[in-house]
Amino acid sequence: MSAGLTRRELLRLACIGSAAAAVAPVETATAAVHSEKPQAAPGAVGMLYDATVCTGCKACMAACNQVNELPADSAGSGGLYHAPLDLNSKTKNIIKLYQAPNAGKWSFVKRQCMHCLDPACVSGCPFEALSKDPEKGVVRWDGSRCIGCRYCEIACPFQIPKFEWDKWNPRIVKCEFCITQRLEKGEQPGCTGACPTGAVIFGKRDALLAEAKRRIAASPGKYFENRVYGEKDAGGTQVFYLAAVPFKDLGLPELGTDSIPYYATKVNAKLYKWLSGPLVLYGILALAVNRNWKHHRHEQEQHEAKGGLPEQL
Ligand code: SF4
Ligand code: SF4
Ligand code: SF4
Repeated sequence: MSAGLTRRELLRLACIGSAAAAVAPVETATAAVHSEKPQAAPGAVGMLYDATVCTGCKACMAACNQVNELPADSAGSGGLYHAPLDLNSKTKNIIKLYQAPNAGKWSFVKRQCMHCLDPACVSGCPFEALSKDPEKGVVRWDGSRCIGCRYCEIACPFQIPKFEWDKWNPRIVKCEFCITQRLEKGEQPGCTGACPTGAVIFGKRDALLAEAKRRIAASPGKYFENRVYGEKDAGGTQVFYLAAVPFKDLGLPELGTDSIPYYATKVNAKLYKWLSGPLVLYGILALAVNRNWKHHRHEQEQHEAKGGLPEQL
Protein backbone atom coordinates (compact mmCIF):
# COMPACT_ATOMS: atom_id res chain seq x y z
CA MET A 1 0.00 0.00 0.00
CA SER A 2 1.57 3.22 -1.10
CA ALA A 3 -0.47 5.73 0.91
CA GLY A 4 0.57 6.58 4.49
CA LEU A 5 -1.60 5.65 7.45
CA THR A 6 -4.43 8.05 8.17
CA ARG A 7 -6.18 8.02 11.53
CA ARG A 8 -9.18 6.23 10.03
CA GLU A 9 -6.98 3.63 8.40
CA LEU A 10 -5.15 3.08 11.68
CA LEU A 11 -8.47 2.42 13.38
CA ARG A 12 -9.44 -0.01 10.68
CA LEU A 13 -6.17 -1.84 11.03
CA ALA A 14 -6.63 -1.85 14.81
CA CYS A 15 -10.06 -3.36 14.33
CA ILE A 16 -8.70 -6.09 12.12
CA GLY A 17 -5.77 -6.58 14.49
CA SER A 18 -8.07 -6.68 17.51
CA ALA A 19 -10.14 -9.41 15.93
CA ALA A 20 -6.96 -11.38 15.45
CA ALA A 21 -5.93 -10.66 19.06
CA ALA A 22 -9.36 -11.72 20.34
CA VAL A 23 -8.87 -15.08 18.69
CA ALA A 24 -5.14 -15.34 19.32
CA PRO A 25 -4.83 -19.07 18.62
CA VAL A 26 -5.87 -18.57 15.03
CA GLU A 27 -3.82 -15.46 14.42
CA THR A 28 -0.95 -17.29 12.82
CA ALA A 29 -3.27 -19.12 10.52
CA THR A 30 -5.14 -15.90 9.71
CA ALA A 31 -1.92 -14.11 8.90
CA ALA A 32 -0.89 -16.91 6.60
CA VAL A 33 -4.12 -16.61 4.59
CA HIS A 34 -3.59 -12.97 3.64
CA SER A 35 -1.38 -13.20 0.62
CA GLU A 36 0.14 -10.24 -1.15
CA LYS A 37 -1.85 -11.15 -4.24
CA PRO A 38 -5.19 -12.65 -3.18
CA GLN A 39 -6.66 -15.04 -5.73
CA ALA A 40 -10.24 -14.97 -6.94
CA ALA A 41 -12.46 -17.95 -6.10
CA PRO A 42 -12.63 -20.49 -8.95
CA GLY A 43 -16.15 -19.49 -10.01
CA ALA A 44 -15.84 -15.84 -8.96
CA VAL A 45 -18.72 -13.79 -10.25
CA GLY A 46 -18.54 -10.06 -10.76
CA MET A 47 -20.15 -6.84 -11.85
CA LEU A 48 -18.77 -4.28 -14.31
CA TYR A 49 -20.14 -0.75 -13.97
CA ASP A 50 -19.28 1.69 -16.75
CA ALA A 51 -20.11 5.17 -15.49
CA THR A 52 -19.93 6.58 -19.03
CA VAL A 53 -22.96 4.49 -20.02
CA CYS A 54 -25.10 5.08 -16.91
CA THR A 55 -28.05 7.46 -17.39
CA GLY A 56 -28.85 7.69 -13.69
CA CYS A 57 -32.32 6.21 -14.18
CA LYS A 58 -32.00 4.29 -10.88
CA ALA A 59 -33.83 1.23 -12.21
CA CYS A 60 -31.06 -0.79 -10.53
CA MET A 61 -31.91 0.76 -7.16
CA ALA A 62 -35.59 -0.08 -7.42
CA ALA A 63 -34.78 -3.63 -8.57
CA CYS A 64 -32.35 -4.11 -5.69
CA ASN A 65 -34.98 -3.17 -3.12
CA GLN A 66 -37.61 -5.35 -4.76
CA VAL A 67 -35.41 -8.43 -5.03
CA ASN A 68 -34.10 -7.97 -1.49
CA GLU A 69 -37.56 -7.14 -0.09
CA LEU A 70 -36.33 -3.87 1.36
CA PRO A 71 -38.74 -0.99 2.03
CA ALA A 72 -38.39 2.26 0.11
CA ASP A 73 -36.39 4.97 1.84
CA SER A 74 -38.43 8.09 1.19
CA ALA A 75 -37.33 10.07 4.25
CA GLY A 76 -35.32 12.54 2.13
CA SER A 77 -38.08 13.10 -0.43
CA GLY A 78 -41.03 13.89 1.81
CA GLY A 79 -42.43 10.42 1.22
CA LEU A 80 -42.61 10.81 -2.57
CA TYR A 81 -39.74 8.70 -3.88
CA HIS A 82 -37.27 6.01 -2.91
CA ALA A 83 -34.52 8.59 -2.65
CA PRO A 84 -31.89 7.65 -0.07
CA LEU A 85 -28.96 10.00 0.39
CA ASP A 86 -26.51 7.14 0.90
CA LEU A 87 -26.31 3.43 1.52
CA ASN A 88 -28.26 2.60 4.64
CA SER A 89 -30.17 -0.24 6.27
CA LYS A 90 -32.87 0.05 3.57
CA THR A 91 -30.48 0.60 0.68
CA LYS A 92 -27.90 -1.91 -0.55
CA ASN A 93 -27.33 -0.17 -3.86
CA ILE A 94 -27.27 3.54 -4.69
CA ILE A 95 -26.69 5.73 -7.72
CA LYS A 96 -25.00 9.02 -6.89
CA LEU A 97 -24.19 12.07 -9.00
CA TYR A 98 -20.75 13.65 -9.07
CA GLN A 99 -20.35 17.18 -10.41
CA ALA A 100 -16.91 18.74 -10.83
CA PRO A 101 -16.81 22.19 -9.28
CA ASN A 102 -16.84 24.88 -12.02
CA ALA A 103 -15.76 22.43 -14.72
CA GLY A 104 -19.15 21.35 -16.02
CA LYS A 105 -18.10 17.71 -15.82
CA TRP A 106 -20.33 15.18 -14.17
CA SER A 107 -20.80 11.47 -13.77
CA PHE A 108 -23.05 8.99 -12.07
CA VAL A 109 -21.64 6.27 -9.84
CA LYS A 110 -23.19 3.08 -8.53
CA ARG A 111 -22.16 2.01 -5.05
CA GLN A 112 -22.63 -1.32 -3.32
CA CYS A 113 -20.38 -3.93 -1.73
CA MET A 114 -17.23 -4.54 -3.78
CA HIS A 115 -16.94 -8.21 -2.78
CA CYS A 116 -13.23 -7.78 -2.13
CA LEU A 117 -10.95 -10.73 -2.89
CA ASP A 118 -9.51 -10.43 0.63
CA PRO A 119 -12.28 -8.62 2.54
CA ALA A 120 -11.43 -6.48 5.56
CA CYS A 121 -14.99 -6.94 6.89
CA VAL A 122 -14.43 -10.69 7.09
CA SER A 123 -11.10 -10.25 8.87
CA GLY A 124 -12.56 -7.57 11.16
CA CYS A 125 -15.45 -9.73 12.37
CA PRO A 126 -14.41 -11.61 15.54
CA PHE A 127 -17.26 -14.11 15.19
CA GLU A 128 -17.05 -15.14 11.54
CA ALA A 129 -20.46 -13.67 10.85
CA LEU A 130 -19.11 -12.47 7.51
CA SER A 131 -17.56 -14.95 5.15
CA LYS A 132 -16.51 -15.29 1.56
CA ASP A 133 -18.31 -17.91 -0.47
CA PRO A 134 -15.57 -20.34 -1.57
CA GLU A 135 -17.03 -20.91 -5.02
CA LYS A 136 -18.47 -17.62 -6.22
CA GLY A 137 -16.50 -15.31 -3.91
CA VAL A 138 -19.62 -13.49 -2.69
CA VAL A 139 -19.19 -11.92 0.77
CA ARG A 140 -22.15 -13.02 2.89
CA TRP A 141 -23.49 -12.19 6.35
CA ASP A 142 -24.76 -14.79 8.82
CA GLY A 143 -27.23 -13.39 11.36
CA SER A 144 -26.91 -16.41 13.63
CA ARG A 145 -23.28 -15.50 14.36
CA CYS A 146 -23.47 -11.68 14.43
CA ILE A 147 -23.49 -9.94 17.85
CA GLY A 148 -23.86 -6.43 16.39
CA CYS A 149 -20.39 -5.18 17.39
CA ARG A 150 -20.15 -3.36 14.02
CA TYR A 151 -16.43 -4.03 13.64
CA CYS A 152 -17.17 -4.84 9.99
CA GLU A 153 -18.41 -1.28 9.50
CA ILE A 154 -15.16 0.12 10.83
CA ALA A 155 -13.00 -2.35 8.94
CA CYS A 156 -14.54 -1.88 5.49
CA PRO A 157 -12.42 0.58 3.45
CA PHE A 158 -15.44 1.33 1.23
CA GLN A 159 -17.85 2.09 4.13
CA ILE A 160 -20.41 -0.40 2.92
CA PRO A 161 -21.98 -2.41 5.79
CA LYS A 162 -24.87 -0.63 7.54
CA PHE A 163 -26.57 -1.38 10.83
CA GLU A 164 -30.35 -1.55 11.34
CA TRP A 165 -30.71 0.94 14.18
CA ASP A 166 -34.50 0.87 14.09
CA LYS A 167 -34.91 -2.88 14.67
CA TRP A 168 -35.06 -4.76 17.95
CA ASN A 169 -32.88 -7.48 16.38
CA PRO A 170 -30.68 -5.49 14.00
CA ARG A 171 -28.98 -6.93 10.96
CA ILE A 172 -25.90 -5.83 9.11
CA VAL A 173 -27.16 -4.82 5.68
CA LYS A 174 -25.04 -4.91 2.56
CA CYS A 175 -25.16 -6.28 -0.99
CA GLU A 176 -24.77 -10.06 -1.01
CA PHE A 177 -24.94 -10.27 -4.80
CA CYS A 178 -28.55 -11.51 -4.59
CA ILE A 179 -26.98 -14.90 -4.03
CA THR A 180 -29.98 -16.62 -2.46
CA GLN A 181 -32.65 -14.74 -4.38
CA ARG A 182 -31.01 -15.01 -7.83
CA LEU A 183 -27.56 -16.59 -8.24
CA GLU A 184 -28.46 -19.90 -6.60
CA LYS A 185 -31.40 -20.13 -9.01
CA GLY A 186 -29.15 -19.56 -12.00
CA GLU A 187 -30.38 -15.99 -12.47
CA GLN A 188 -28.48 -12.71 -12.51
CA PRO A 189 -28.75 -10.09 -9.74
CA GLY A 190 -31.63 -7.66 -9.62
CA CYS A 191 -29.58 -4.58 -10.46
CA THR A 192 -27.79 -5.97 -13.52
CA GLY A 193 -30.98 -7.53 -14.84
CA ALA A 194 -32.86 -4.23 -14.58
CA CYS A 195 -30.30 -1.86 -16.09
CA PRO A 196 -31.72 -0.73 -19.45
CA THR A 197 -28.47 0.63 -20.85
CA GLY A 198 -26.00 -2.11 -19.94
CA ALA A 199 -24.14 0.30 -17.67
CA VAL A 200 -23.85 -2.46 -15.11
CA ILE A 201 -23.42 -6.03 -16.30
CA PHE A 202 -23.00 -9.35 -14.54
CA GLY A 203 -20.66 -12.23 -15.37
CA LYS A 204 -17.58 -14.16 -14.37
CA ARG A 205 -14.91 -11.91 -12.89
CA ASP A 206 -12.31 -12.90 -15.50
CA ALA A 207 -14.65 -12.24 -18.41
CA LEU A 208 -15.72 -8.86 -17.03
CA LEU A 209 -12.11 -7.78 -16.56
CA ALA A 210 -11.39 -8.73 -20.17
CA GLU A 211 -14.45 -6.79 -21.32
CA ALA A 212 -13.37 -3.71 -19.35
CA LYS A 213 -9.91 -3.85 -20.92
CA ARG A 214 -11.44 -4.30 -24.36
CA ARG A 215 -13.47 -1.11 -23.88
CA ILE A 216 -10.38 0.81 -22.80
CA ALA A 217 -8.41 -0.42 -25.81
CA ALA A 218 -11.29 0.44 -28.15
CA SER A 219 -11.55 4.05 -26.87
CA PRO A 220 -8.10 5.37 -25.95
CA GLY A 221 -8.29 8.40 -23.66
CA LYS A 222 -11.97 7.94 -22.87
CA TYR A 223 -11.48 6.34 -19.47
CA PHE A 224 -9.68 7.80 -16.47
CA GLU A 225 -6.07 6.60 -16.43
CA ASN A 226 -7.06 3.86 -18.93
CA ARG A 227 -7.57 1.85 -15.77
CA VAL A 228 -10.09 -0.63 -14.37
CA TYR A 229 -10.82 0.21 -10.74
CA GLY A 230 -11.01 -3.00 -8.75
CA GLU A 231 -8.55 -5.03 -10.78
CA LYS A 232 -5.85 -4.52 -8.16
CA ASP A 233 -7.25 -1.92 -5.76
CA ALA A 234 -7.30 -3.09 -2.14
CA GLY A 235 -5.98 -6.45 -3.33
CA GLY A 236 -8.64 -6.72 -6.03
CA THR A 237 -12.41 -6.77 -5.94
CA GLN A 238 -15.23 -8.53 -7.77
CA VAL A 239 -16.87 -5.26 -8.79
CA PHE A 240 -15.10 -3.26 -11.49
CA TYR A 241 -15.47 0.37 -12.48
CA LEU A 242 -14.77 2.33 -15.62
CA ALA A 243 -15.20 6.11 -15.49
CA ALA A 244 -14.24 9.26 -17.33
CA VAL A 245 -13.51 11.18 -14.12
CA PRO A 246 -11.07 10.41 -11.28
CA PHE A 247 -12.25 7.44 -9.23
CA LYS A 248 -11.69 9.26 -5.96
CA ASP A 249 -14.21 11.91 -7.09
CA LEU A 250 -16.77 9.12 -7.32
CA GLY A 251 -16.10 8.09 -3.72
CA LEU A 252 -13.83 5.20 -4.68
CA PRO A 253 -10.82 5.57 -2.39
CA GLU A 254 -7.19 5.23 -3.41
CA LEU A 255 -6.18 2.25 -1.33
CA GLY A 256 -3.09 0.96 -3.09
CA THR A 257 -2.79 -2.63 -4.19
CA ASP A 258 -2.37 -4.46 -0.86
CA SER A 259 -5.54 -5.77 0.72
CA ILE A 260 -6.33 -4.16 4.09
CA PRO A 261 -5.94 -7.50 5.96
CA TYR A 262 -2.57 -8.13 4.29
CA TYR A 263 -1.44 -4.60 5.15
CA ALA A 264 -2.69 -5.05 8.73
CA THR A 265 -0.68 -8.26 8.96
CA LYS A 266 2.44 -6.38 7.91
CA VAL A 267 1.77 -3.52 10.36
CA ASN A 268 1.07 -5.96 13.20
CA ALA A 269 4.26 -7.84 12.44
CA LYS A 270 6.23 -4.58 12.76
CA LEU A 271 4.42 -3.60 15.95
CA TYR A 272 5.12 -6.97 17.54
CA LYS A 273 8.72 -6.84 16.47
CA TRP A 274 9.56 -3.37 17.70
CA LEU A 275 7.06 -2.34 20.34
CA SER A 276 6.05 -5.20 22.63
CA GLY A 277 3.15 -6.06 20.36
CA PRO A 278 0.30 -7.13 22.67
CA LEU A 279 0.37 -3.94 24.76
CA VAL A 280 0.36 -1.77 21.68
CA LEU A 281 -2.34 -3.84 20.07
CA TYR A 282 -4.61 -3.60 23.09
CA GLY A 283 -3.97 0.14 23.25
CA ILE A 284 -5.06 0.52 19.65
CA LEU A 285 -8.04 -1.71 20.36
CA ALA A 286 -9.09 0.61 23.18
CA LEU A 287 -8.95 3.54 20.75
CA ALA A 288 -11.08 1.68 18.23
CA VAL A 289 -13.65 0.65 20.84
CA ASN A 290 -13.81 4.21 22.19
CA ARG A 291 -14.33 5.66 18.72
CA ASN A 292 -16.84 2.96 17.84
CA TRP A 293 -18.81 3.70 21.00
CA LYS A 294 -18.89 7.46 20.36
CA HIS A 295 -20.08 6.85 16.80
CA HIS A 296 -22.64 4.38 18.10
CA ARG A 297 -24.01 6.98 20.57
CA HIS A 298 -24.07 9.63 17.86
CA GLU A 299 -26.07 7.43 15.47
CA GLN A 300 -28.39 6.40 18.29
CA GLU A 301 -29.03 10.01 19.28
CA GLN A 302 -29.69 10.93 15.65
CA HIS A 303 -32.10 8.06 15.34
CA GLU A 304 -33.93 8.87 18.56
CA ALA A 305 -34.14 12.52 17.51
CA LYS A 306 -36.05 11.33 14.43
CA GLY A 307 -38.52 9.58 16.67
CA GLY A 308 -37.33 6.01 16.09
CA LEU A 309 -37.50 3.19 18.60
CA PRO A 310 -34.92 3.30 21.38
CA GLU A 311 -31.92 1.21 20.48
CA GLN A 312 -32.17 -2.29 21.89
CA LEU A 313 -28.64 -3.59 22.30
S1 SF4 B 1 -16.51 -3.66 0.23
FE1 SF4 B 1 -16.46 -3.72 2.48
S2 SF4 B 1 -18.25 -4.95 3.03
FE2 SF4 B 1 -17.81 -5.39 0.87
S3 SF4 B 1 -16.42 -7.17 0.88
FE3 SF4 B 1 -15.12 -5.35 0.84
S4 SF4 B 1 -14.65 -4.96 3.01
FE4 SF4 B 1 -16.45 -6.33 2.96
S1 SF4 C 1 -26.28 -7.62 -6.57
FE1 SF4 C 1 -28.34 -7.65 -5.64
S2 SF4 C 1 -28.02 -6.85 -3.55
FE2 SF4 C 1 -26.19 -6.30 -4.74
S3 SF4 C 1 -26.60 -4.24 -5.53
FE3 SF4 C 1 -27.28 -5.68 -7.13
S4 SF4 C 1 -29.47 -6.03 -6.72
FE4 SF4 C 1 -28.57 -5.10 -4.86
S1 SF4 D 1 -30.21 1.00 -14.22
FE1 SF4 D 1 -28.29 1.18 -15.35
S2 SF4 D 1 -28.45 3.20 -16.39
FE2 SF4 D 1 -30.04 3.15 -14.80
S3 SF4 D 1 -29.03 4.10 -13.01
FE3 SF4 D 1 -28.71 1.88 -12.78
S4 SF4 D 1 -26.73 1.50 -13.74
FE4 SF4 D 1 -27.39 3.54 -14.43
